[in-house]
Amino acid sequence: MSRLIVVEGVDGTGKSTQIELLKEVTENAIIFKYPTSKYKTLNDYLEKKAHVDSKALFLLFLADIADDQQNVKKALDQGKTVILDRYVFSTLAYEVDGISHNEGKKIIESVGYLKPDLVILLDISAEESQRRKKKQKELDRYEENINYLEKVRSNFAKLCEERFLTTNWHMIDANRDIRTIHSDIMSAIK
Ligand code: ADP
Ligand code: MG
Repeated sequence: MSRLIVVEGVDGTGKSTQIELLKEVTENAIIFKYPTSKYKTLNDYLEKKAHVDSKALFLLFLADIADDQQNVKKALDQGKTVILDRYVFSTLAYEVDGISHNEGKKIIESVGYLKPDLVILLDISAEESQRRKKKQKELDRYEENINYLEKVRSNFAKLCEERFLTTNWHMIDANRDIRTIHSDIMSAIK
């Protein structure tokens, strides 16, 4: 049975960690991750090599995801469990400058992105998120600003409350050990 599962949350919540664990125990699973590295302007922006207008940025993130929808659709048609490491919810939660929350949602709805069967939202404080990321690498343009990360976190929580694109949202406390979180994710999926 094909399924579209989205894993969301601010940087350092453990998305990649949990997705790897999920993939191990899921038959016929495939992972897609966003943003991809296909869009040069987007990459340059993320690497702080370029300034991009905030509305353009919103659309670039969405274009990058839209560009990949046929691949996602194909995997679903083949009966796979598709796991997305970030999706349009991240675009809404992060790119808040150029476009309002409600207008952003309308744009996404009118493009007609594939609707997930389930969204797993991993939630931790911005402080903990930064602490974890700092151990891994240098902080990127988003990760270095704690107030901004808290704002992103609350934008995700709002999307969860609104049940945007699916009623099947699960907010999971990611400030626990990896195995406990994994078992919560497995219960949510069943
Ligand atoms: P994301 O993909 O959401 O940015 P990662 O899975 O890359 O997060 O995890 C970020 C860092 O935090 C990694 O070093 C990872 O080993 C660590 N980590 C992941 N989950 C937990 C957890 N539950 N508790 C403590 N550290 C964690
Ligand atoms: Mg990751």
